[in-house]
Amino acid sequence: MIPYSLSYCLCCGHFFEGSVEPHLCQECTAARPPFTYHRSYGRYRGKLKDAILLYKYRCFQVLGGNFAHLILRTLGKEENIWWEADVIIPVPLHPKRKKMRGFNQAKVIAGELARLRGIKLEEGVLAKVKNVPPQTLLEMDEREENVSGAFRVVDEDRIRGKTIILVDDVYTTGSTVKECSSVLRKAGAKEIRAITVAQA
Ligand SMILES: [Zn+2]
Repeated sequence: MIPYSLSYCLCCGHFFEGSVEPHLCQECTAARPPFTYHRSYGRYRGKLKDAILLYKYRCFQVLGGNFAHLILRTLGKEENIWWEADVIIPVPLHPKRKKMRGFNQAKVIAGELARLRGIKLEEGVLAKVKNVPPQTLLEMDEREENVSGAFRVVDEDRIRGKTIILVDDVYTTGSTVKECSSVLRKAGAKEIRAITVAQA
């Protein structure tokens, strides 16, 4: 898979069409999100989308490692993401959803990134406490409300003052990553940076 070398928003990582220099998008200019940066490997379409769907819904758990390698190939050199990062935290699944799927797709990718970059994987510190409908079933404007109050920090001591890299598979409206970031910030985290495999 060829990485996309598109231009993007310097804050939320939203890909821009056409050949423009990376800059702040309108949304981030108006109000900064609760994370410092977000970057995706590529767009949620074509082969990358197919691979993610196989990975999540057809139990191709082994693809998690490949996604981590793809991310590092394109984002590995972006020092503003990795610089002095203390821990890597995957976006959690609700226990019921995890039981159904058999694994947390974000955790496999986060675990591999942690191993490859030598950063600690902090597991179980962020929990999904509300089993909300999958974001994919909802309209864009319903998604923010859907995840509100869905996440909780279980152990504040493990994240207080820490610079955290939050990992998820897909970034669509960003509601999930934003909600997790603000919950982590409120619990005392110093800074959140986010990485996803693909953005819709
Ligand atoms: Zn932006």
